Amino acid sequence: MTDLIHASEIIRRTAAETAAAIAAGEVSAVEVAQAHLDRIGAVDEKVHAFLHVDTEGALSAARAVDAKRAAGEELGPLAGVPLALKDVFTTKGVPTTAGSKILEGWVPPYDATLTRRLKDAGVVILGKTNMDEFAMGSSTENSAYGPTGNPWDLSRIPGGSGGGSAAALAAYEAPLAIGTDTGGSIRQPGAVTGTVGVKPTYGTVSRYGLIAFSSSLDQGGPCARTVLDAALLHEAIAGHDPLDSTSIDAPVLPLVEAARHGATGDLSGVRVGVVKEFGGEGYQAGVMQRFHESVEILRGLGATVVELSCPSFSYALPAYYLIAPSEASSNLARFDAMRYGLRVGDDGTRSAEEVTALTREAGFGPEVKRRIILGTYALSSGYYDAYYGSAQKVRTLITQDFARSFADVDVLVSPTTPTTAFPIGERADDPMAMYLADLCTIPSNLAGNSAMSVPCGLAPEDNLPVGLQIIAPAMADDRLYRVGAAVEAALNNQWGHPLLEEAPAL
Ligand code: GLN
Repeated sequence: MTDLIHASEIIRRTAAETAAAIAAGEVSAVEVAQAHLDRIGAVDEKVHAFLHVDTEGALSAARAVDAKRAAGEELGPLAGVPLALKDVFTTKGVPTTAGSKILEGWVPPYDATLTRRLKDAGVVILGKTNMDEFAMGSSTENSAYGPTGNPWDLSRIPGGSGGGSAAALAAYEAPLAIGTDTGGSIRQPGAVTGTVGVKPTYGTVSRYGLIAFSSSLDQGGPCARTVLDAALLHEAIAGHDPLDSTSIDAPVLPLVEAARHGATGDLSGVRVGVVKEFGGEGYQAGVMQRFHESVEILRGLGATVVELSCPSFSYALPAYYLIAPSEASSNLARFDAMRYGLRVGDDGTRSAEEVTALTREAGFGPEVKRRIILGTYALSSGYYDAYYGSAQKVRTLITQDFARSFADVDVLVSPTTPTTAFPIGERADDPMAMYLADLCTIPSNLAGNSAMSVPCGLAPEDNLPVGLQIIAPAMADDRLYRVGAAVEAALNNQWGHPLLEEAPAL
């Protein structure tokens, strides 16, 4: 019994607390890993956050941290802390599917730079998390391996594409997780599961070994239950990588320091802009209510708040759904049945072209096919200027809207997503309804700047989590942590406990 109580305490700790407890010798990294593996064993049949649990890899990484400590070596700030990794980053010797049948059974021969950095930091990778196929989706229903349940209500979506990572956090299966955000896939799952998710500035977290969806938009980033934990993880994964040609060669910002500063609750001198375009029709009343309360909290902490207009944001969604599929149609050409995973119809009678076609037909799901067709069309000669070319111009206008806004304010805020978690199946056959989930998140991907979703309460009508989106300029990700930590601290004080303590449906 005491062991059980102990294990349930261990899994509820923040990453910062766990790292401190391991460093102080109060608990071993192996005990921490085992408590989380047991939790996964107990609840993941219902949640389905994981596609693959790497029990042996996790325990051996934990043993290495314990050995290091025993030898008196210094441990990094996240040594021994377990993490759930989105199944879109390559992991040497551990299956990687990107949520697709076409990669079923593929075992990468190398680690992504992000994977390598986590391992070097002593982070214990528990396994790979479920996701929409090739990160295309907002609900994780497009996974070829079945949906993930939202730990607040298992009949609802956990967001997407990184629903597995967010659900793992909310179900206390891991204190840290990694996502990727091409159009909102870190922030939107964060919002609907009551967790924190950050899209770093494009180019500051390496894409080497990240299976490409839309290369000019894809960005890996941290997911956690607290702002401080997200900052610790963000610092561990960020930094220049010569293996990624779009990687920015600049020092990692002091994000942990910014989070600690923000937690003191002082936002004096911070100028906040409310994006006028995000609200109104299509937005759930309870989402707007919590959003407006958050703005009042910011004001109460000393920030000045103004309303701003970003007129081009209204065109972000259509521009995104030309640019992302265009890049995807090119990136996904590499799945040709010759190099990775699945191969269909290779019986000695068929040509390579026929085998490629049969494999792609069987290996890609409907959403992936839809996007390849859309992207191929948008890039075809005669249509290129009208579609892809126009979308790129809209992208420039959006970047200009941001630039104009950030001349007057330090951060922008909006709801992260227009509604709370919707029921599994509700939008599955309606791509347009699904795409609307990313209305507020997509502009930052198109412009390449940084943004965070932080929990800001439950919508009164359904008692489901609402996310506040905080948007900062490129290379100013530290502002997200200052403002996010301040909001988090103010709300925790108001409620007397963190949001997730209200504990989900498990
Ligand atoms: N939901 C968006 C899409 O389907 C964003 C996905 C993402 O960020 N990976 O493309």
